[in-house]
Amino acid sequence: WCGRGLQICRTKTTAPKNYSDYESMRRSYNPPVPLHYNFAKDVLEQWEMKEKNGQRSSLPALWWVNDIEEVRWSFEELGFHSRRLANVLCQVCGLERGDRVFLILPRVPEWWLVNVACIRTGTVLIPGSYQLTARDIRHRLQASGAKCVITDDTLAPLLDSVATDCPSLRTKLLLSHSARHNWGNMTQLMGTVSDEHVCVNTRSEEPMTIFFTSGTTGSPKMTQHSHCSFGLGLTVNGRYWLDLTERDVFWNTSDTGWAKSAWSSVFAPWIQGACVFVHHMPRFDTSTVLKTLSRYPITTFCTAPTAYRMLVQEDKSRFRFQALEHCLCAGEPINPEVMWKWKELTGLHIYEGYGQTETVLIAGTFKGMKIKPGSFGKAAPGYDVQVVDEDGIIVPQGQEGNLAIRVKPHRPFSLFTEYTGEPERTAECFRGDFYLTGDRGMMDIEGYLWFVGRADDVILSAGYRIGPFEVENALIEHPAVAESAVVSCPDPVRGEVVKAFIVLTAAFKKSDQKELIQELQMHVKRVTAPYKYPRKIEFVDLLPKTVSGKIRRVELRKKEWEQKTSLN
Ligand code: ATP
Ligand code: MG
Repeated sequence: WCGRGLQICRTKTTAPKNYSDYESMRRSYNPPVPLHYNFAKDVLEQWEMKEKNGQRSSLPALWWVNDIEEVRWSFEELGFHSRRLANVLCQVCGLERGDRVFLILPRVPEWWLVNVACIRTGTVLIPGSYQLTARDIRHRLQASGAKCVITDDTLAPLLDSVATDCPSLRTKLLLSHSARHNWGNMTQLMGTVSDEHVCVNTRSEEPMTIFFTSGTTGSPKMTQHSHCSFGLGLTVNGRYWLDLTERDVFWNTSDTGWAKSAWSSVFAPWIQGACVFVHHMPRFDTSTVLKTLSRYPITTFCTAPTAYRMLVQEDKSRFRFQALEHCLCAGEPINPEVMWKWKELTGLHIYEGYGQTETVLIAGTFKGMKIKPGSFGKAAPGYDVQVVDEDGIIVPQGQEGNLAIRVKPHRPFSLFTEYTGEPERTAECFRGDFYLTGDRGMMDIEGYLWFVGRADDVILSAGYRIGPFEVENALIEHPAVAESAVVSCPDPVRGEVVKAFIVLTAAFKKSDQKELIQELQMHVKRVTAPYKYPRKIEFVDLLPKTVSGKIRRVELRKKEWEQKTSLN
């Protein structure tokens, strides 16, 4: 299964800080859901208090750097600024509990303030990626009915160009050193209001945030979470998967518009009282990332598999990682080959996490448990994860099916509430006693889960079902392959065949392409079951990706199938 999948890492792993072993961790996690819950009051204010009483380490709550400046805020400072911003939202902008706030800022400290201020006021935060176009923004504002937008000088003109098409939009806040017509200046307004604010007593199930999904398979879906689903549910990520404590410095690189930023840049680390570290880079630069990891006391690092694929191309002799002890990834499958290379570079394993905008961590590899590269681990505490058929019936171990979470008799509190305004789409995700993730996978006899692919990405060739990930894993073991995307391509005999789009490593860019294609095909036949080998190969400079860096196989597949239609 999965190329090298069943080779097991036997190297010693760091002992977990927050639990003893996987089984007891799962058993012990069953938090009561209170009637009322508010992350700002129930978590952040508690850390603020502990800090005041000298009961927390001296690490900042937020440690932000770019290439020139540095900002360090304690929980007290975070509270001070966010209370002011909360007053701006209520008193100046006139926002009320339940009103929606659309936020598009890059990784600047104020992004974290808006997150906290919205929670304090009970307004519903809708983060958007900084890379959105005017069209995307118009769609998001119209679909969400947001009353307030917060952005900076760069995107304000885009906002203005669509504002008249968005009748719900009432107020606009600008993060800027200068003034702009019809916009309130956020920093200036914060200087005019009190730093005292009483946090709204939100009910646990009250809406807290709406995230748009990444749009890997289609148009992004508005996914609503409650104060408890993320604010409390992400304890699983922080305490167990990330294994954070208040002595940890945690760097998560995700874009501010992706649910992963709520997961790992806000809730999970702060639930544990850890320091959130941010390096604001104009663009992802591998050398800067590795330098940052060796220069700052970062203990825990999480980034996307696509980033790890780039990082492992760097020369390891240039870096020493002294504080780093726990590395993680989520969002896409991680290739076992990349895990080996990262181990060579840093001496550390990559712990994989599997989840969705709709959920908290569904499954993962946890410290102390044996890692099976190619598998994303076992069910996370709080979720009963099963592999089921189309009717929601559990399939035997070892058989492929839909990855699903049990929702009956008890619906986990850490599941999304709904796709906003789309009851039918929401209902379609539920089958029998389960929520279906839309992903295909299988469970082995030890309860480890193996990702096959998104339901739409699985290739059916001459009676075989082939997951793109298995072929991509085999390809990346060859030194010519930096990364690849494998999709189905129409074929008159087999119905579909496997086609690989490959980005070459620098050393192979000038090789004879015909020879290389044959060599790569032989290589795949050698390292995995031969029926999976890509009958077609195309070399490309870049692969189509989402803002969060996920490969959009759907785009490549569509092109292949459209070409066929136009040829007919
Ligand atoms: P959309 O739903 O709009 O098509 P998306 O599913 O990519 O986009 P997200 O919610 O950001 O949006 O991503 C969740 C999906 O990412 C999962 O359903 C799964 O397909 C994939 N994923 C996440 N983690 C992993 C992992 N460790 N291994 C394989 N796939 C993963
Ligand atoms: Mg999805």
